[in-house]
Amino acid sequence: MGPPGAGKGTQGDRIAGRYGISRYSTGDILRAARRNGTELGREAERYMDAGELVPDGVILGMMREALSSGDAGGGFLLDGFPRTVAQAEGLAALLEDIDRSLDHVVSVEVADEEIVRRLSSRRVCGACGAVAAAGSSRDASCEVCGGELRQRPDDAPDTVRRRLEVYRDQTSPVLDWYARSDTPLTTVEGVGDPADVEARIVAAIEG
Ligand code: AMP
Repeated sequence: MGPPGAGKGTQGDRIAGRYGISRYSTGDILRAARRNGTELGREAERYMDAGELVPDGVILGMMREALSSGDAGGGFLLDGFPRTVAQAEGLAALLEDIDRSLDHVVSVEVADEEIVRRLSSRRVCGACGAVAAAGSSRDASCEVCGGELRQRPDDAPDTVRRRLEVYRDQTSPVLDWYARSDTPLTTVEGVGDPADVEARIVAAIEG
């Protein structure tokens, strides 16, 4: 868990790769659905572009399908989900149904000013969605597929402000919910070299 721009995607990739487990990012699944023009993508787009959350029922249906697939069997990491208390409750019910549980919740924390700074310079590939390395040159192309890099529409300053409000109002209560649950919850500082942040997360989950 963590606010927009905390590095959930970067760290999620590193941690899932390190332990050889599947990573499920609700944001990535929704963006792929939009690129592919599916009904899910069309349903989600107006919420995403406004910086609002996609309705809980849509997200829970999507994650039930993802987690029930064979890929989740060897272990999984959830990135950007759950984002509301209703989603956390829905996830608990879903995990019980499929006889799985969460080992750990990690919250990556970054101050608002740093988030606004990061997101205003973040660039992503319009074709495959990969995030460009920080500081790559303006006219660089995607390192993964050669596609054109651009700003994510929801990284525009007004939308970032709204996403931060949504995080504070709707997602931070999820941290209180986990703090009261049996699942261990650890907060790590998300600022610094990505390898250092990764080491803090590993220390938290193995500690
Ligand atoms: P992210 O890439 O995680 O920042 O997500 C981008 C956008 O996708 C969010 O601003 C929401 O509109 C939507 N989204 C991603 N995950 C969720 C979720 N768990 N619940 C509701 N909306 C979500």
